[in-house]
Amino acid sequence: MSHIIAVDGPAGSGKSSVSKAVARRLGFGYLDTGAAYRVLTASALTAGIDLDDESVVVQLWESLNYQAPTDPDGQIFVVNGEDFTDLIRTEGTSSHVSRVAKHPRVRQAMNEGFRSLADSIAQPGIVIEGRDITTVVAPDSPVRVLMTADEDVRIARRQAELGGADASSLTQRDNADRKVVDFMTAADGVVTLDSTHLSFDDTISALLAIAQEGLEGGMEGAL
Ligand code: C5P
Repeated sequence: MSHIIAVDGPAGSGKSSVSKAVARRLGFGYLDTGAAYRVLTASALTAGIDLDDESVVVQLWESLNYQAPTDPDGQIFVVNGEDFTDLIRTEGTSSHVSRVAKHPRVRQAMNEGFRSLADSIAQPGIVIEGRDITTVVAPDSPVRVLMTADEDVRIARRQAELGGADASSLTQRDNADRKVVDFMTAADGVVTLDSTHLSFDDTISALLAIAQEGLEGGMEGAL
């Protein structure tokens, strides 16, 4: 059983880049669960299936030849032999992903995959980030963190990421996602890390400090 660092938060909270940096520092694996939802959405759109049909979407997920990457420096997404890395980040995919993520049976099937991946990685631990990692995927993890930032800061960060393109759909997506899981308030035992007034490096240090405390003596050498 590997150590799991569970990180949740809304879009633009900085959780992906910070989680990746922390995984690198610890020599841990890294799993971006949002990317998996994006992979399924892009695949469903490519196949022309009805995203609102839960059974068909579950079937598609189970039929995909897809192995989620766990190297923080090797985030390449290959689906049925095709490179989906760019496609999953397009607005065309982003604007539909909540429709796929709303299905309970889809979430259940994906979560099983995330857990078995975490169990089988070669590294001593894994940073898993998403929306329901602290509450559903790994609720017993010793390190559970909710990353937040004020909305204007999140939109500005996402805009910078998109090279100035419109990031207004971010709020829309968060609102749709919030109907499915609550990732705006920390569940019992989950530490809130608000990065509104923190630099990128300070946010990494803060997450590392929380991880160190949670993982306690066992990982001291690695930190
Ligand atoms: O993290 P990212 O913004 O790339 O996630 C894309 C989408 O995947 C979210 O908007 C949400 O609909 C879905 N998601 C989810 N549960 C997770 C991770 C992502 O529902 N654990």
